Amino acid sequence: MGQGRETRPQPRRIGVYARVTARFINKPARLWAVSRAVKRAFKYRFYPSPAQAAELARTFGCVRLVYNMALQARTEAWTLREERVGYNATSAMLTAWKQTDDLAFLNEVSSVPLQQALRHLQAAFTNFWAKSAKYPTFKSKKRSRRSAEYTTSAFRWRDGRLTLAKMAEPLDIVWSRPLPEGASPSTVTVSQDAAGRWFVSLLCDDVIDQTPATGAVGIDAGLDSLLTLSTGEKITNPRHERADRARLARAQRNLARKEQGSVNWAKARLQVARVHARITDRRRDHLNKLTTRLVRENQTIVIEDLTVRNMVTNHSLARAISDAAWRQLRTMLEYKAGWHGRNLVVVDRWFPSSRLCSVCGALAEPMPLHMRSWTCRCGQTHDRDVNAARNILAEGLSVIACGGGVRPQRESSRTGQSSVKQETQRATAGTPRL
Ligand SMILES: [Zn+2]
Repeated sequence: MGQGRETRPQPRRIGVYARVTARFINKPARLWAVSRAVKRAFKYRFYPSPAQAAELARTFGCVRLVYNMALQARTEAWTLREERVGYNATSAMLTAWKQTDDLAFLNEVSSVPLQQALRHLQAAFTNFWAKSAKYPTFKSKKRSRRSAEYTTSAFRWRDGRLTLAKMAEPLDIVWSRPLPEGASPSTVTVSQDAAGRWFVSLLCDDVIDQTPATGAVGIDAGLDSLLTLSTGEKITNPRHERADRARLARAQRNLARKEQGSVNWAKARLQVARVHARITDRRRDHLNKLTTRLVRENQTIVIEDLTVRNMVTNHSLARAISDAAWRQLRTMLEYKAGWHGRNLVVVDRWFPSSRLCSVCGALAEPMPLHMRSWTCRCGQTHDRDVNAARNILAEGLSVIACGGGVRPQRESSRTGQSSVKQETQRATAGTPRL
C-alpha cells in the first residue's frame, strides 16, 4: 500500500492481481503476443508394486516423524530459550538423529524427502512469521496428507519413465494427458489420498501463450447456480453433483453409526473417502475447464472476496461444497491469470451488489432471497445474480481505471467506506496444486 495515498478507512481484504504490464493492453497485440516460461505441475495416478507401496509407506512415515521432531525442537528452542532454530540447524539435527540407534531406520529411506520435509517446515515458519499462516502443527498419522517430495538427485527420468530412489523398477504411471514436449521434471511429489489412491505430481517447465484477450467478466458466486457471469451465463454444478452429495451424506451417517476403530468403521471410513474423492475429482475437472475458458476469453476477470459473506454462515453440506468450489476457483484463476498475463481483480463485497441497479445505479429496497428477479425504478428488469455479476465487473473495472480509493460515486458511497484499495501485485507463475 502506498502510504498516505488513502485517507478513508481501509476495507478488509482486496487484492488486485494485475500484471505490471497491464497498462499496455491497448498496444498492438503482436507487440506482446509473447509466450512465457512457467513451472507447472502435472499430476497422474500410478499403481505401485507391493514393494514400492511398502517403500513409500515407510518414506511417508519417516517424513512425518522428521517433520514432527523438527517442529518440536524448534518450538522448544523458542519457548524455553527464545532461540530461533532455522533450516540449517534442523538439517544438522537430522544427521545426528540418523546416527542414533533408535532412529537408525531413517537411513533406510531416501534422504531427499526427509530434507524436503525440513524445507516445508521452514516454509511453514516463514508464512507464520509473515502472518499469512497459523503456527505449524504436527502431522497426524490419520489426518495429514501422506506425501513425499523428491528432487532431481533422488529420481531418474529416462525415456518417459520415472524411477524413484531406493526402487528398482520405474513407477507404473497412467499418462492421462501428455507432458509438454521434451519436458523433464525438476521435482516429483508422490502422495496417497484418503481413498487409498496413489498420485505422482511432476513439476516441469512449460511455455504458455500470452496473447492478450479482449473480454472482461464479473463473476457472482451462488448456491442455486454455482456461478453467474456478467454476460448473463449461468454455470451450474457438475452433473451428478447432487446425487454424489446425497451419497456422501448417507456414507457419513453410516460411518457415525459404527464403533470407532472397528473393522466396519474402517470400511465405512474408506467409503466416505471414496465418495469425497469422486466429488472433488469431478469438481476439479469442471473448474479446470471453466477457468481455462474464462482466462482464454477475458483479459480482466473480477471476482468477489467471499470471506465477508461467509460471516453469515450456513452450515449445510451444500454450502460447504460450494464454498470449497469457490476457493478452488479463485486459486485456479490466480495462477492461470498469472500464466496468461491476465488481470484478476478481487473486490470486497460490502456493497449490496444484487440490489444495486447496474443500469442507473439506484439502490432497490432489500428483498428476500427467494426473489430471483426485480424491476428497477428506471424500468429495467434484472436477474438478481446477473445484476450482481455486472456490478462486480463495474467495481473491478473502476479499481483498474482509478486506482485505490477513487471511483465513480454510487449511492452506497454515502456510507463513507472506501470500497477499493489497490494492491497491485505481479501475479506470479506459482506452482499450482492440481
Ligand atoms: Zn435502474
